[in-house]
Amino acid sequence: MAELNPTLLMVYAGLFGAVLGSFLNVVIHRLPRQLEAETQAWLREQTGQPRLETKPYNLAWPASHCPQCERPLPWFHNLPVLSWLALRGRSACCNTPIAKRYPLVEGLMALLTMGLVQRFGVGPEAGALIMLTGFLLALGAIDAEWQLLPDPLTLPLLWLGLLGAMAGLTPAPTVESAVLGAALGYLSLWSLYWGHRLLTKREGMGYGDFKLLAAGGAWLGWMALPQVALLAAASGLVFALTAKLRGRLAPQEPLPFGPFLATAIWLTAFFGVR
Ligand SMILES: [Zn+2]
Repeated sequence: MAELNPTLLMVYAGLFGAVLGSFLNVVIHRLPRQLEAETQAWLREQTGQPRLETKPYNLAWPASHCPQCERPLPWFHNLPVLSWLALRGRSACCNTPIAKRYPLVEGLMALLTMGLVQRFGVGPEAGALIMLTGFLLALGAIDAEWQLLPDPLTLPLLWLGLLGAMAGLTPAPTVESAVLGAALGYLSLWSLYWGHRLLTKREGMGYGDFKLLAAGGAWLGWMALPQVALLAAASGLVFALTAKLRGRLAPQEPLPFGPFLATAIWLTAFFGVR
């Protein structure tokens, strides 16, 4: 294979990352709504209410449309980052503000993909880590907005980590370390949760957090767990204190832990255990 110009390689990596980020935005927008609709349908069935005739709604249907007026988007208003900037953050059809999350997720995914290709080169290892990055970004964004880490994301991420360890493509040093990492990651937060709950009668975390740390342990190996937990707890604490000091966080407002866990897992995957 001919040697690729390093600058051109970074441009390709950035474009690839932006396109992935654009797909992540679809997942981030649709998956929680889809799960909520399924729960509502299940509740109606349990209570014997008639089924609602709703349109199917999933990751592939309907095509990209304005969430406000539901008009379909032309392809040139659907370009990562560029369209948001060109439209100045408002939809062309009805002038509705478009969430900053769209360009943020696309831009961040582009940057992280460039960083991974720079550090790990082009190959299956970088490919695996780009996949990990996509899952973590989607999980962090969904948890920040919905206080929810959906099983359809955390569980595949966990077994992809175990399979990746078998193929030798993940940072976990051995398959044994990955299996232990998954079990200990889950158990550590589970025991913390029950300890905290028995002592204070309050819930500090959710089961999604246990599954996410289990997935992190599967990808990184059990020896990375203390670093991940410490990084996540410290950054979460700093964030909560700053938000409180600036009056941005109400006293009983719960702070989702997922974004901090996701960040800590990513940093440890990228820089290794220090
Ligand atoms: Zn519109």
